[in-house]
Amino acid sequence: MLNALTVDVEEWFHVCGIERHVPPERWDELESRVEDSTRRVLDLCDRFQARATFFMLGWVASRHPELVRRIRDAGHEVASHGMWHRKVFRLTPPQFEADVRESCSVLESITGRAPTAFRAPEWSIDAERRPWAYPILSRLGIRDDSSVSPLTWISGAKLETKPFRWRAHAGDAAAGSAPREELGPASLRVFPVTTMRLFWENLPFTGGLGFRTSPYWYTAYFFEQLNRSGVPGMIYLHPWELDREQPRLPLGPVVRFMHGFNLGAVARNVSGLLRHFRFGTLAEALDQVVPPDQAVAPLAMQESAA
Ligand SMILES: [Zn+2]
Repeated sequence: MLNALTVDVEEWFHVCGIERHVPPERWDELESRVEDSTRRVLDLCDRFQARATFFMLGWVASRHPELVRRIRDAGHEVASHGMWHRKVFRLTPPQFEADVRESCSVLESITGRAPTAFRAPEWSIDAERRPWAYPILSRLGIRDDSSVSPLTWISGAKLETKPFRWRAHAGDAAAGSAPREELGPASLRVFPVTTMRLFWENLPFTGGLGFRTSPYWYTAYFFEQLNRSGVPGMIYLHPWELDREQPRLPLGPVVRFMHGFNLGAVARNVSGLLRHFRFGTLAEALDQVVPPDQAVAPLAMQESAA
């Protein structure tokens, strides 16, 4: 069974929850570290001969076109992470469309190929936005989406109170956890973030803070069980998680903990998983669930064929 290895390519100052401290007007003033940190991810892939999907932030791609070409030339999938790292639930449908369209054309102008996979910042396509966001993605030629997270812990009513309200959008308990084809006015192959069931909660142990706090053997055991039941899993990482020398911003203790805790575990855990399990791109992992010749084409392709 092939699992999906995914990387959100963004700068160290694009982490979620700090937009207030680092608004887009300031991004160009800050030190760029993405080339170095992404090279570490590429080296890891190389070492274990694994292909991955790199969700490129359009803003980063437009400033580092050589990096995008290096990723493509190494045989990986180049996909879109939007242009300005804006959460979908903060955008109107036209704003969302403009943001994704801009990122796709930046990537196409660099690689010569329009991306066919998308991931929204902070898994921000939720139940309320899916009905309009998916047709927009499909119209832009997106076939595979990885923007939903079936988290119960974060989305649950328990945390709908301050000071956690800002996190309340990150989960969508109704999203379902299985990779699948979602049929409707716009059909997309959907790969939600892989979560693990612990007691009554779905928790994200395959990337981010969850990946850095849970013991490796537990994640490995979970992947083993998942693959045995015929379901591919997905891990996600950010280049800045492999950069322990990144500058520190004046953040509150909660955000600092979420982004800085145990960064050393990321390379270790990813190496372990790449050694013991098979990984490929998001598209390759989805091909096992929904073969490409059986999947409904994105609206963009249907329209151009008509
Ligand atoms: Zn991101």
